[in-house]
Amino acid sequence: TNPRTPLASLSDDDLAGFLAEQRSAYAALQSRGLKLDLTRGKPSSAQLDLADDLLRLPSSTKDRAGVDVRNYGGLEGLAELREIFAELLSVEPSQVVAGGNSSLSMMYSTIVDFLLFGGVDSPRPWSQEETVRFICPVPGYDRHFSMLASFGIEMVTVDMHQDGPDMPAVESLVKDDPSIKGIWIVPTYANPSGAVVSQEVAARLAAMPTAAADFTIFWDNAYAFHHLTQEEAKSADILSLCAASGHPNRPIMYASTSKITYAGAGVAVLAASQANVKWYLGHLAMGSIGPDKVNHLRHVEFFRDAEGVRAHMRRHREVIAPKFAAVDEALTTGLDGLEIAQWSHPTGGYFVNLDVLDGTASRVVALAKEAGIALTPAGASYPHGRDPRDRNIRLAPTFPVLDEVRTAMAGVATCVALAAAEKLVA
Ligand code: PLP
Repeated sequence: TNPRTPLASLSDDDLAGFLAEQRSAYAALQSRGLKLDLTRGKPSSAQLDLADDLLRLPSSTKDRAGVDVRNYGGLEGLAELREIFAELLSVEPSQVVAGGNSSLSMMYSTIVDFLLFGGVDSPRPWSQEETVRFICPVPGYDRHFSMLASFGIEMVTVDMHQDGPDMPAVESLVKDDPSIKGIWIVPTYANPSGAVVSQEVAARLAAMPTAAADFTIFWDNAYAFHHLTQEEAKSADILSLCAASGHPNRPIMYASTSKITYAGAGVAVLAASQANVKWYLGHLAMGSIGPDKVNHLRHVEFFRDAEGVRAHMRRHREVIAPKFAAVDEALTTGLDGLEIAQWSHPTGGYFVNLDVLDGTASRVVALAKEAGIALTPAGASYPHGRDPRDRNIRLAPTFPVLDEVRTAMAGVATCVALAAAEKLVA
């Protein structure tokens, strides 16, 4: 069989031959006894090592203003750290809150506050609404969806395109339905598609009329600075766009250094209008006397300034860009021309989005597992883990070493081809 012929156009005999070839390739793969893991977007230890000067910092116990960082206080976070993030995110320092080690937990407490108390523009707490629904661009980040599910918030999916969510669909959903209270947006190098929200889409999100006065854009910029090429995407300035459209409180922005310094011991930030910041801090104050300012100061000393963050991200790029190239190479070698798979070519972020033949993603993941290659469960990038077309697989190549990425991805290509051949023969 010619591997460059689209699989669906092979004769029955050739297809049977192709299936037999893939079965023996798979048997060979299984016999290798691999134990590889491409499941989660975690930095590798080589990336974590880049930040190990943190372990010897801070060298001082006082911040710029002379405040002892070891003591209570300063709920909004260290001023100098807020300044660094303000510059990076193109917002004002007063719009930034620097918190603990997880932006996800800042998102969680924001939604809890909406549920219990309502937001700045809410007529009542969300928990007093009959139904609360969020727009979820898919494929998207699994933890966004499981968080909403845990609150009983309903999820309405729209397609995520290369320039952001399907805007006609979003605009028609928010226009008449006051139960639509929010949307998740990962604007830069989205998880998992790698898409970057364009200026035009951001402007439409900012300007669109919404039936809910407190409709909120959860702008999760987790990968804002995580470029894989020299062409560095610039995130749209959603706070200014919304303010200019008369909706200053619509967006709440999040970011963190989880994939900049340490994934378990970085710093997370939230940025929003002054009114939203006051609202967030007001509720936070009931549960905290202040953040870990020692870690804030440690990060300030480590980076020095915004340019220090950018320079550090270039060092990450050197470590992980070859792994993304290895994913593309293995998929191209194994699958190009067969017309049974499409994959993203991200210019940043942590993932490659692989779409296989409809109805075969679960089979591919199961085959890979049997061969010792752990993949994110099929459907993980959809609410409730249900991909209606059973075709989407999220690949996370940063954690394993380069050689393991090559081996694992060659194996994945075999599984994709085998599952497709099985399906087409059946
Ligand atoms: N947001 C997105 C889109 C992510 O992909 C991740 C981690 O994978 C997070 C948030 C988690 O961020 P943090 O470590 O700051 O809680």
